[in-house]
Formats: sequence, structure tokens, C-alpha cells
Amino acid sequence: MTTWRCATATNVGLVREANEDAVAATDRMVVVADGMGGHAAGEVASELAVSVFARAITSEPSVAGLNSALHVVNQAILDDALAHPERAGMGTTLTAIVPVSYEDGEALAWVNIGDSRLYQLRDGAIRQVTEDHSVAEEWVREGRISKEEAAVHPRRHQLTRVLGMADALDGDTGVLSVKVGDRLLLCSDGLTNEVSDTELAELASTPIGLDDAVASLVARACANGGHDNITVALLEVESVSVAVPEIAVTPSSVRTFPASRAHASDTGETVMRRRRRNLPRWMTLRTGIFASAMAGLVAAVFVILGWFASASFYLGDANGSIAVYQGQPDGFLWYHPKEVFVTSFKSSELRPGDARELKKHIAESSLSAAIRHADNMHSAWLTTQPTVAP
Ligand code: MG
Repeated sequence: MTTWRCATATNVGLVREANEDAVAATDRMVVVADGMGGHAAGEVASELAVSVFARAITSEPSVAGLNSALHVVNQAILDDALAHPERAGMGTTLTAIVPVSYEDGEALAWVNIGDSRLYQLRDGAIRQVTEDHSVAEEWVREGRISKEEAAVHPRRHQLTRVLGMADALDGDTGVLSVKVGDRLLLCSDGLTNEVSDTELAELASTPIGLDDAVASLVARACANGGHDNITVALLEVESVSVAVPEIAVTPSSVRTFPASRAHASDTGETVMRRRRRNLPRWMTLRTGIFASAMAGLVAAVFVILGWFASASFYLGDANGSIAVYQGQPDGFLWYHPKEVFVTSFKSSELRPGDARELKKHIAESSLSAAIRHADNMHSAWLTTQPTVAP
């Protein structure tokens, strides 16, 4: 079986009044949808998309079955719009990950329609797996404009394919080649319009808990403007049942994964055998056991010290902004604190008491707790500011 851990978040953002995104995650499916349409129809469309898709995925799904599930969702949206004329024209994007039967095991398959996205992250590198179905991106594929022009093109938000638009539209599908430890990021455009791929790679790959990584992605999108609803599902692959060959589904948008440097002759077993042959003569079994125990003890002490040094977070100043640091404020032994997140809040925009506390550093148990604390302090400061008549 292919298994993963997953964290999700959906946030209204700072500008929109309602959240028209939806997300659902189980241990057999993760789906993100971004709805559109007046009279709250966008919310209906995206909710229908995730709930109907979850039901339409059978117990033994296949890649072809993913598009069959999309057709069921599409029909559900069209039927609902027919029954509720005020919702006519509603639609939604859908991006999903589902394990499917593959050779004698299971592989992770994806399906995408619209401009929500799936990214794959490995060793700090990011690869955009899906292609947007927008006018600007279609033009890039046709060679009419460059990728850079598309990123700022006025028609980048105009979608060419969404669910609810016409009868039985297909989405793009593919099978992923994943390794244990890979992270997969599914998100709505409220995240990708605000946060660059480089920043996504940084925040989604940080070796912190998935909940904290998701919180930092949402916080960064809000800090960069939060113009749209933001939805994120981040999953980490825990086990892989069958090796899928590396297939480039879409070209890399930032940098490709480094090629594997492992050689067949360098398996753990070969290395062990080579080491055993090189043991010095004085290394008897008893001294070997004693030396291993001592080495284990020293390693354990290092692990505990490392954990103590990096298990905490604190708020401090970074060039005039409130930032979150991981570690102990003055460092601990040879472990130095590192900046993991810079908020959009200025250190000068705090009540005097909070500003003093910030100077002394404010400890928090997690990245998300630290971000929330910064947000609360800034909100408290805002209430002390005179309101300016418009
Ligand atoms: Mg959106």
C-alpha cells in the first residue's frame, strides 16, 4: 500500500467575503477545489466537487476511473444548476491525488482540471506536476507567449476548462514517481498567485510538522496580500508499494530533482561487508560491543541536544519585521537559531509592552503558534491607533 500523512487548511484570505474553495483528505484520497459563480454558487460547486468526487472514487480506482469520477462531478454540478437557476454558470476546478492499482502494487495517480495545482517536493526542489487550464497557459503551450509573460498576463485567470462548464470534459491525469519522504502540495490559485514557486519550495519543504508547514504557507499568502481564498493540502509519503519509473509529466518550473547518485554496487549490504573486512585485528567481539555501546550513547546525547536546541520557536526582530526563529535565542552549544519565517508585521507597530517583550524574544511551542502570536500583537496595536475618517 502507498501511505501518507496529510495536513490541510482553507482560509478566506484578506479580501474576499466568503470562501469558495473546498478541500477533503482521507488516507485514500486528497482533493482541492476552487469554485466560481455568483449567489454563493462557487461554494456549492466546490463543496459538490469534493464530496461527489470522494463518493465517485471506487474502492479500486484506476487512472481512467479518475476521469469517470470527474464526469460524475460535472453532471452533479450541471444538475444542481438546473434545479437552482440562480446558480447557473457555476463551476469549479479540481485537483486530486488517489492511489491506483499499478503493476503488482499501488501508485499515486493525479487528476487536474482548472488552475489549482499539484507540486512535488523532494530534497528542497519543487516540480509543478499539473498544467493550468487558463488562456495564458494554453498560449504558452502553443508558443505564442513566454512563461514569464503568462505569469503577469491579464488572461492568466481566464480558465479554459473547469467542471460545470460543459458535458463530460476530461481533466489531465498522470502517475507519480514518488519516494518515501517526498511531499506533495495541492493548492488553489489563492496560494500560487501570492507565493512564488521558490518560496513554496522553501516553506513546504521545511522539516517541520505538516500542520506548521501548511500554516506558514497560508500565512505567507496572507502576508503577500491574501487577495483570494487560500487552500492547501500538504502530504508526505510514508510508504511506497511499487517503484514507478521517473516520468516527466510536465517540464520543471523551477529546478528538476537531482539525478539519483545511488549505484547498484553501493547497497547497504555491500558497504557493510566492506567495513567488516577492514576491522582492525585488536577489535574483538567484546571490545566491538563496548565501542558500539559507547558510540550509541554519544550519538543519543547528540540527538537529545539537537532536539533541545531546535525544538522551540521564538519571535524576534529581522530588519524591522517580526520574524519567527527556530532554536534557542542565544544558541545552544554549537546550534545556532535560524530564521524560518518573516511576517508582514513591522516590529515598530506594536504596543510598548509587546515591543519590549519582542526585544527579549517571545518563546512559542510551534511555528503556527508563533505566527498567531505575532498576528495577535499586531491586531492589539491596531486597536490603539486612531481611526482615520475615509
Ligand atoms: Mg481561487
